[in-house]
Amino acid sequence: MTGPGTAAVHGDDGLVPGGAVAPPIVQSATFSAESDERFTEIATEARGSAFYTRYGNPNHAQVAAVVAELEGAETGLVTASGMGAISTIALALLSAGDHVVVQRSTYGGTTSLATGLLPRFGVSCTQVDQTDSGAFERALRPETRLVLVETPSNPLLELTDLAAVAASAHAAGALVVVDNTFATPVNQRPLGAGADLVWHSGTKFLGGHSDVSAGVVVGPAGLVERVWRTSIVTGSTLGPVDAWLLLRGIRTLPLRVQRHNDNALALARALEGHPAVARVRYPGLPSHPQHDLARRQMTGFGGVLGVDLAAGRAGAAALLAGLRLAKRAASLGSVSTLVVHPRSMWAGIVDAGQLAATGIGEGLVRVSTGIEDTSDLVDDFRAALDTVPT
Ligand SMILES: *Cc1c(COP(=O)(O)O)cnc(C)c1O
Repeated sequence: MTGPGTAAVHGDDGLVPGGAVAPPIVQSATFSAESDERFTEIATEARGSAFYTRYGNPNHAQVAAVVAELEGAETGLVTASGMGAISTIALALLSAGDHVVVQRSTYGGTTSLATGLLPRFGVSCTQVDQTDSGAFERALRPETRLVLVETPSNPLLELTDLAAVAASAHAAGALVVVDNTFATPVNQRPLGAGADLVWHSGTKFLGGHSDVSAGVVVGPAGLVERVWRTSIVTGSTLGPVDAWLLLRGIRTLPLRVQRHNDNALALARALEGHPAVARVRYPGLPSHPQHDLARRQMTGFGGVLGVDLAAGRAGAAALLAGLRLAKRAASLGSVSTLVVHPRSMWAGIVDAGQLAATGIGEGLVRVSTGIEDTSDLVDDFRAALDTVPT
């Protein structure tokens, strides 16, 4: 297996036709066949790229191969969004009567899927505290099929012990599905720790430029093929141009993630101890309650941190209003630093009781550091914090 820099650039070697160095965009919804025999062949080939774009397209195959190489996976597929990826995984692998384990602190869309949508189809779920590996084990039942893991989690930056959870899930016959959006394969490779499938919101660090929505699923060929067979039914198809854009972004992923990591660590250190700040949540800080675990299972600590303002909601509002470089926007993993008040963002989507139960406080601001110069970013936050009530 190659290193991430080489994987990002060469993971699709052999899948690019002709002599083109940059892959051509194959903006075609359908592909012709020269004979009846050939048509039958392309129409029935699993995960082919020469039949119909909802089934597969050369731009899909290229970017999926690159993410698979980065994650150390056998193969992969792409979807129109991260939620397209996880909802397709769920519909592919779950049936009525099954049970899933999901983290209390996890992406809001994943919470809605597990606690709102799946129960309508007869799939029950148990929410657990991800910082307690024993809680996963206790939640497992004979009918548990999937354990949905996200580490570090959005937006509380809590960690899950991947190896411990995989061991107990496998002993109970369940599969472990990991959302690796926050860490990226540059910082963490869950398959190596025992996970069965990894998925991403490609909209975030993989794409990296806030200009494309996409999702990716990688893992062993047998499981990925099951997800693919469902994906042609659910139709969460990534457009060829967006697949191309996603790959264009991924080419520089290892370089960008290095800067994201450096900026987040520098900012976390600069903000910790400021009188307006009650707490900084960042796995790379020794003050993070799971810093040892972070050092064990991550090679870098990622580009996202959480800042709890001492003055609560008023403090969060003042910080957001005082920032000049950082933009107030949903999403993360962009070249630009993005900040958000999670309590406001999720108010209309996740039920209020759920939101409070997750531990997302009124004073929490999520910061996704961009690739700006570190000193400019730190200056921007210091200046804004000096206007925040303590
Ligand atoms: C954004 C996000 C998702 C959802 O991805 P979309 O591309 O917006 O559908 C899932 N998980 C995490 C951790 C995210 O940040």
